[in-house]
Amino acid sequence: MKKFVYAFEEGCKELKSLLGGKGANLAEMKKIDLPVPEGFTITTEACNQYYVDGKQISEEIVTQIEANLKLLEAKTQKKLGDSNDPLLVSVRSGAVVSMPGMMDTVLNLGLNDLSVEGLAKLTENRRFAMDCYRRFIQMFGDVVLEIPKYKFDKVLDGKKEICGYEMDTDLTATDLEEIIAGYKKIVKSEKGFDFPQEPKKQMMMAIEAVFGSWNNDRAIVYRNYNEIPHNLGTAVNIQSMVFGNMGTTSGTGVAFTRNPSTGENKLFGEFLINAQGEDVVAGIRTPQKIDELKDALPEVYQQFVDVSAKLETHYRDMQDIEFTVERGILYMLQTRTGKRTAYAAIKVAVDMVDEGVLDKEEALMRIAPSQLDQLLHPTFEPSALESANLLAKGLPASPGAASGKVYFHSADVVRAREQRINTILVRTETSPEDIEGMVKAEGILTSRGGMTSHAAVVARGMGKCCVAGCGEVKVDEENRIFRIGDQIFKEGDYISLDGNTGKVYSGAIKTIEVGLTGDFAKVLEWADEFRTLGVRTNADNPHDAETAVKFGAEGIGLCRTEHMFFSDDRILSVREMIVASNKVNRVKALDKLLPYQKEDFIGIFKAMGSRPVNIRLLDPPLHEFLPHKDEEIGALARDLGVDFEVLKSKVESLSEFNPMLGHRGCRLAITYPEIYEMQVKAIIEAAVYCKDELKIEVHPEIMIPLVGHLKEFTILKKLVIDTATETLKALNAEVVYKVGTMIEVPRAALIADEIAAEAEFFSFGTNDLTQMTLGFSRDDSGKFLDEYVKKEVFDKDPFESIDQNGVGKLVNMACELGRKTNPSIKLGICGEHGGEPKSIEFCHKTGLNYVSCSPFRVPIARLSAAQAAINNPNLKK
Ligand code: PEP
Ligand code: MG
Repeated sequence: MKKFVYAFEEGCKELKSLLGGKGANLAEMKKIDLPVPEGFTITTEACNQYYVDGKQISEEIVTQIEANLKLLEAKTQKKLGDSNDPLLVSVRSGAVVSMPGMMDTVLNLGLNDLSVEGLAKLTENRRFAMDCYRRFIQMFGDVVLEIPKYKFDKVLDGKKEICGYEMDTDLTATDLEEIIAGYKKIVKSEKGFDFPQEPKKQMMMAIEAVFGSWNNDRAIVYRNYNEIPHNLGTAVNIQSMVFGNMGTTSGTGVAFTRNPSTGENKLFGEFLINAQGEDVVAGIRTPQKIDELKDALPEVYQQFVDVSAKLETHYRDMQDIEFTVERGILYMLQTRTGKRTAYAAIKVAVDMVDEGVLDKEEALMRIAPSQLDQLLHPTFEPSALESANLLAKGLPASPGAASGKVYFHSADVVRAREQRINTILVRTETSPEDIEGMVKAEGILTSRGGMTSHAAVVARGMGKCCVAGCGEVKVDEENRIFRIGDQIFKEGDYISLDGNTGKVYSGAIKTIEVGLTGDFAKVLEWADEFRTLGVRTNADNPHDAETAVKFGAEGIGLCRTEHMFFSDDRILSVREMIVASNKVNRVKALDKLLPYQKEDFIGIFKAMGSRPVNIRLLDPPLHEFLPHKDEEIGALARDLGVDFEVLKSKVESLSEFNPMLGHRGCRLAITYPEIYEMQVKAIIEAAVYCKDELKIEVHPEIMIPLVGHLKEFTILKKLVIDTATETLKALNAEVVYKVGTMIEVPRAALIADEIAAEAEFFSFGTNDLTQMTLGFSRDDSGKFLDEYVKKEVFDKDPFESIDQNGVGKLVNMACELGRKTNPSIKLGICGEHGGEPKSIEFCHKTGLNYVSCSPFRVPIARLSAAQAAINNPNLKK
């Protein structure tokens, strides 16, 4: 018989995929003798079985749950639902990777009209018992029965208003009994049945709700965003309750063993005296700093400090801990690897190497490459900030700088994002329902909640700028406005958030880019020690090239020359060249472009010094450079001194049904060789100038795009070499250069051995290779790719992360074939995949020489390449 339920003492941290993160760590904490209340975990396999069985918990699983419940009752010497001394439990979800989109917690389960009396008698505290019961009905109603929470809040707030109370704690036992009656009425009218009184039924309903929440919309959005597989399932933890709301020697809190924003090695957290767990996380009451626990409960504080240290030493990583104190006794309810900002991730990694806890390889593996993005993203320009209008200050919950239009509802943010509007999601507090809006917003502002509120935790995990607990901001979601003092801000107004200081400003503020210094630079130097894959950049102007060099680029892997043709000073000559009716006129126009192109290349060579610079000859279809509206064509006709109708028919003749598969890439030069001749001349003249006048040891690589036939390559290679030779001869100079091709047409991959015999390098243009291999247009597939990812046809958009089984196979094959006929051929990738961590690991395994990506992804690529080398040690070249 398969084991679907594990008592805590039967598990350990290694069983995470079976017991979920929470369950495995509760078991582990028990193993190392930390104070953990008794309980058991229903496995992720039981969740998957629930779906296999058509959303039914099988008898076999029910039997195992019941057996474990009996054991739990024996251990605690209490009985679920007992009218004298009832066992109460919490039911909590526990996925393998923590997932805020799912049903989280039901506390106090086991209470009913009878057992609440037992609890009252036992604790000699009727008010406490009634408070537990009303919390239970509310939580069960919300997360299990899916009754909107505000319906319950209305009853509670109504009672407080009638009685003139400020605080929940003002409510008496009798008030609470009335509230309970009100809550029960809500359940009856919303669901058509009475609030379930049978504790085992309550438990099974809660378990089913956890299983069901695995596939709710929010959880699916979260998994898609975080690339978590959909087939993992969630575990369920049933744990005997301890009470943080038993008076002033009780309390509950969450803490990190180090600061999750800055990485500082100092306990960081919050607690609330006389409260239950959800009060802290939900941000309903503003908690106290963990240091203050020292004054409130000194012995408990010391014990907590010791436990935290023990946990960090045991796990060898920063921990995120939940605890409860019941009448002066500390209990641990959860530990897990603490989510942290990129900044903190780097500081913790470097500090732990210095402390001798980790070696460099382990430290590098601890940093998520995609997170580095946060460190490279802009901050506000100091001078712009000085003159900015400060509105309010909240908590610096997640660093970064964000400007955008205010929206109050997740769905509105999503809609605005579709129109490419930058947005700030403003809410009183966030909940898992807001996940999609949080994903799509530039920044998040909440008026309530602390550093561990939902908004803060989720934003930090996403690397999104967040200011939380900004009490001066009074949010009115219903009317889509917020107030600060007597100022009113409406939906669509601009504001700016500084996640490093917690400050909120009106209007949009200019941002600046940040540098690569300190611990960040150190970590990347370590990465360079381990990686075997080169990292180049895709850059087509000196500014981008310089930025990339600062970030550690070792060369240019793709310089797209077409971008140079669009600037104001040359577009007219480009158009003149395109519409020329014969070669003589075409060459005349190209001659005007030559000095510009030469200047472009000098600028790039200067920025790159002796690093290799791969320049791709013109690629896009020519009509992309032409105007299409009649008035624009008319203006061009006047500028060029040609007849409107003649020009119009020329423009029309160049339009194509399917330009991506049309007259572009090397096909342009097969028909109009003079275009490439001009470009090669410009490259070589620029190289000679840099070498002879500026003493830069330039290394140009001339790349021919979209080759699919050997003959295309050999014809154009000859053109390149003839032009270069002629240019060098005229200048009486020498420059070493390479000629190679992109592999972006599947046929090129199939005949890579033939091409490699002629080419000095291949660069995989996986953007085109993906679209041509899958037959998915790069420009149009956005419309259906989301659905493909949702339905798991692909794990991820294949234009983002390389389709390893399909496109990847072609890349692999082309590398093997290429090296067969040309063992010294240089192999690189310049499609967007070159900056994506999983694709980079693929490139490492395939044995490419380098990846090339946009400047801001260079640090990500350096770290990813190091992780790939560490993960695949036997592949070291
Ligand atoms: C490619 O196709 O992968 C590539 C780099 O070229 P482009 O994106 O310019 O077509
Ligand atoms: Mg391409």
